[in-house]
Amino acid sequence: MSVESAIMVKGLEFSIGKKRILKGLDFSVPRGKVFAVVGHNGAGKTTFFHILLGLKYQTAGEIQILGRSNEDWRSRTGIGYVVERPYLNLDHEFVSFLRFHARLAGVPRQREVFEKVAEEVGLAGHLDEGLSTFSKGMLQKAVLAQAALGDPEIKVLDEPMSGLDPESREVVKRQIQKWREAGKTIVFSSHVMEDVELLADEVLILEDGEVRFRGTVDEWRARP
Ligand code: ADP
Ligand code: MG
Repeated sequence: MSVESAIMVKGLEFSIGKKRILKGLDFSVPRGKVFAVVGHNGAGKTTFFHILLGLKYQTAGEIQILGRSNEDWRSRTGIGYVVERPYLNLDHEFVSFLRFHARLAGVPRQREVFEKVAEEVGLAGHLDEGLSTFSKGMLQKAVLAQAALGDPEIKVLDEPMSGLDPESREVVKRQIQKWREAGKTIVFSSHVMEDVELLADEVLILEDGEVRFRGTVDEWRARP
């Protein structure tokens, strides 16, 4: 099946009671690009990701992920996800952390699967080490490895750079660039325009649940 957009969003609404949180979003995410969702706190970025991942359902409108509706559970298998505040239990070994997430994601729990993602993020040879022995940068790689389980075409990262030390930020930036080179689609949210200009091909500016801007980074820079 050939699908042009990685993600297609049409008339997307999300309300809690009378409060409209997403107010009719329309946009698409092209395949193989880095797509940034930018907005202040409370703009609706995380809510959008939760709907995309099937953790919440929209009030109205539709989402297609690689041609499948978000209401079809199989759409979830095309997406790797790093939550806004990842949790790592430092009492575990790296491989147990991956095993746990593989179970959640419905990915086969075989040694080769874990070796592949460890290699992908630059942690080859560290699978059996305890997370308590990892540096901050290595912990950040471990978090990213989890999103690579099952080799999903789309990676969704919710504020992947916020609150990190410089080394960990570099880890995230480099991994986003590596995934892009490998032809993956990356969707990340941020409220820091500098990171966005450096990393993203396309930008969506979300303000209070509405799209304020959608275009390339160059178009964003050239706006009046
Ligand atoms: P962002 O990730 O851009 O900071 P969120 O998607 O977390 O924004 O939040 C969007 C809006 O939805 C905010 O106004 C927030 O207060 C509201 N919101 C999120 N979750 C709930 C909830 N469970 N109940 C009520 N309001 C919520
Ligand atoms: Mg958020």
